Amino acid sequence: MKKIIYLFSFLIVLVSCREVGEHHASKAATDEASNINTEKAEFSIVIHGGAGTILKKNMTPEREAAYKAKLEEAIRVGYEILKNGGTSLDAVTKTINVMEDSPLFNAGKGAVFTNAETNELDASIMDGKTLNAGASAGTTNVKYPIDLARAIMDNSPHVMMAGKGAETFAIEQGMEIVDPSYFHTDRRLQSVKRAKEREKIELDHDDKSAFYDPTIKDYKFGTVGCAALDKDGNLAAGTSTGGMTNKRWGRVGDAPIIGSGTYANNATCAVSSTGWGEFFIRAQVAHDISAMMEYKGLSLKEASKAVIGKVGDLGGDGGIVAVDKNGNVAMEFNTAGMYRATMNDKGELTIGIYKE
Ligand code: ASP
Repeated sequence: MKKIIYLFSFLIVLVSCREVGEHHASKAATDEASNINTEKAEFSIVIHGGAGTILKKNMTPEREAAYKAKLEEAIRVGYEILKNGGTSLDAVTKTINVMEDSPLFNAGKGAVFTNAETNELDASIMDGKTLNAGASAGTTNVKYPIDLARAIMDNSPHVMMAGKGAETFAIEQGMEIVDPSYFHTDRRLQSVKRAKEREKIELDHDDKSAFYDPTIKDYKFGTVGCAALDKDGNLAAGTSTGGMTNKRWGRVGDAPIIGSGTYANNATCAVSSTGWGEFFIRAQVAHDISAMMEYKGLSLKEASKAVIGKVGDLGGDGGIVAVDKNGNVAMEFNTAGMYRATMNDKGELTIGIYKE
């Protein structure tokens, strides 16, 4: 009798093991069908330094080397944080700080000029775990706009603050305040002066009014952004920018708009955008990528391609960098180039500038 009981128990265990096995197999097949990589990376990080008509023929070897060096310096900061078990939010913030410090990019020092020849900075950050977010628009004296966005997320009941109010909050938070002239660079000043000259000629001749640099497509946009996955499986994304050359009337672009310039959700992905902000707002780029993954079961790559395609259909251009919950990375753009870099959990670094 004892033997029969043992045999019976053995059979039950065998049958349940098979069932578990079948369940796993069908789960893997489903994931494969929806083109999602089920192999999870420990952590992952990707950055951009702006997209636009970045052509090799217009680039000197020195300039190219300078961009590559700065992209590498920035991404290594985030990589080290993630490797040491830090949060994706910290990795995003500190990585963006490096690019905000560099006059090469249109963020922090080196931001583009408004029509009034001032610098007005926008930034945002989002936490994929809590779906909490922070954003600031049109600030003129906060040295690190991404830190202000983070403080708005962490230390205020609000998601977005603008102008003088945001600056008052930054002072109350003890953040680093600089004279507005800190952001000035001659290169960007000349750029807005040229844009205004061209605008004058166009207005004289065909009564066309433009708030953006009419030949903006000949320039890179230059916004900076970062998306990261940390060892705890938390996603985060952030974006920081001076906006678009020759902007006026308190124009705010997509960079500080949660869902357009920045979005993060642990269920799907983290995204940072760069490009012609008006189109990125109308296409709700960052959230649309996440929604396509969530509602349609698309992979990050498929969703990114589809959404950048929509931006193109509207007549806009630019790109995104993104990481999904498994650490897969997308760097999608419809311009000639996008400054970009990514590092995986094995420490492998990829840097790109032009369309490959
Ligand atoms: N998206 C930014 C804006 O429209 C510009 C950029 O990406 O460089 O303000």
